[in-house]
Amino acid sequence: MVDVRDAAKALAGAGRVVVFTGAGISAESGVPTFRDALTGLWERFDAQALATPQAFEDDPDLVWGWYEWRRSLALRVRPNPGHEAVAAIERHAPHTVVITQNVDDLHEQAGSTAPIHLHGSLFTPRCAACSGPAEPSRQPEPEEGRRLAPPRCGHCGGPVRPGVVWFGEALPVEPLESAVQAATECDVLLTIGTSGLVYPAADIPVVAARFGATVIQVNPQPTPLDEVAAINLPGTAATVLPALVEAAWPPS
Ligand SMILES: [Zn+2]
Repeated sequence: MVDVRDAAKALAGAGRVVVFTGAGISAESGVPTFRDALTGLWERFDAQALATPQAFEDDPDLVWGWYEWRRSLALRVRPNPGHEAVAAIERHAPHTVVITQNVDDLHEQAGSTAPIHLHGSLFTPRCAACSGPAEPSRQPEPEEGRRLAPPRCGHCGGPVRPGVVWFGEALPVEPLESAVQAATECDVLLTIGTSGLVYPAADIPVVAARFGATVIQVNPQPTPLDEVAAINLPGTAATVLPALVEAAWPPS
């Protein structure tokens, strides 16, 4: 496992670290990805087609019900050793910035302090009309799902929408700017469980490499980022990351 040792050395010697995560690390905790078939009420729908502004406009009850079902599911899952290893990296390397494409809160649950959510969050609904913040529900949803009318905004009465970035929407400006800045300034960028296919998020590791960072990739399958990564560690986050952390900062 020469690659793990090389990666550990780069990680332990880095002044600034960026950890960039995608759907793979959440899938290991049981969060379905957009490639998984939908079940229950949403069986006959395509996830990519539901995650659009058009779908919400056409049938708000269907789309809001789906996101409430996903929020309810996210409340039931727990962080895995991959998320815990990311939080451990933050403790060992205090200038670490965690950037995630995931809309669950598994990094926060594992102890990450302020992960940047590039694609928003299931727990930050907002008004579709005035963008004012709305209170996320903590209620569980029925397992088979249900249609649900979106709540009304307390300021303007507009429909509340999920606080996520839909296909066809721009990424939120502040998180994207913070992420790009962190990528330009880091010494090591770890890209974990991401296909490298969803833009502009997929550019983050490319930017880091262009600005001189060592890019380390953890993914079970080959991705377009293989060529960007100086070190490729094949495997899942939950298996590879704990070993990498232990090699970088051996327990004394
Ligand atoms: Zn409003």
